[in-house]
Amino acid sequence: MNTAYVALGANLGDPAATVLAAFGALANISSSRITQTSSLYRTAPVGIIEQPEFINAVARLETSLPPETLLDELLDIEQRFGRIRGERNGPRTLDLDLLLYDDLELDLPRLTLPHPRLHLRAFVLLPLAEIAPHLSLAKRGTIAAWLPAVANQGIIRL
Ligand code: ADP
Ligand code: MG
Repeated sequence: MNTAYVALGANLGDPAATVLAAFGALANISSSRITQTSSLYRTAPVGIIEQPEFINAVARLETSLPPETLLDELLDIEQRFGRIRGERNGPRTLDLDLLLYDDLELDLPRLTLPHPRLHLRAFVLLPLAEIAPHLSLAKRGTIAAWLPAVANQGIIRL
């Protein structure tokens, strides 16, 4: 089995409900199971008042799917959630990113591992640090060491 970390993000409709439902979709991926989920995090809107809030979280999966197959599963879930139309709340979008897959380093046209921007984003680093505080990125050091760099990004653990 392999260990993968997936970032979830939503910002339309009821984003918290979308992220919770997406945990359920991740749990149904074949040959995989969720072993840990983070709290939900809200990224405070900055600047323009009408900007929708983002809800983010991270999940750890144990999987025997190869990384590209797992990515296909994630993109398939994104597609399914993207088509959901609440009668009143409009479209709901979901972003699923594969952050890490064991210690694998990949640079394919459609899949880069570790995710190239994960260490720059509070909305990825905080939930990741919550469930995997001692995790280390091959060439970039520990997750914990990156946290101060994103301390100015407004984010609230729900
Ligand atoms: P972003 O997540 O950066 O806001 P998108 O979700 O629109 O942007 O990007 C999706 C594309 O990024 C996918 O088609 C996928 O092939 C590519 N991609 C490259 N590396 C990864 C990764 N580690 N996780 C998810 N998608 C990735
Ligand atoms: Mg994405």
